[in-house]
Amino acid sequence: MTGALVLEALREGPKTTGELAAAAGVTRNAVLCSLYYLDRAGYQIVNERARSGRVEGLYRIAYDREVPSGDRTCLICPKTLGPGNPGPYCRYHRRMMARLLLMALDAALDRMTEVTSDDEQQQLTLA
Ligand SMILES: [Zn+2]
Repeated sequence: MTGALVLEALREGPKTTGELAAAAGVTRNAVLCSLYYLDRAGYQIVNERARSGRVEGLYRIAYDREVPSGDRTCLICPKTLGPGNPGPYCRYHRRMMARLLLMALDAALDRMTEVTSDDEQQQLTLA
């Protein structure tokens, strides 16, 4: 689970693309895709490259909490979202949506790996 590993690494604190790639054992492109999906699920991924003084992206989770008593509700359940929750989902459903999106990403990455495997390359060459 690439995305889940990226999320766990980010929970320890801000990480660069390279650090996340090493933690999850995947390419930087896979890391960037994971960050995109985590952001879409409501984790609000922030790139602090400018502040890091490096060329590489430095990412952190800006939102990973549940704050009670707001005026919006989760898109999936009737739970109230706090004023500090910028996403469309409650904590439980944010996690669920992230897992679904990241599973789709992992499946897509697996397919890409299959296409570029040696067997496929040979078949393409022979054909
Ligand atoms: Zn919910």
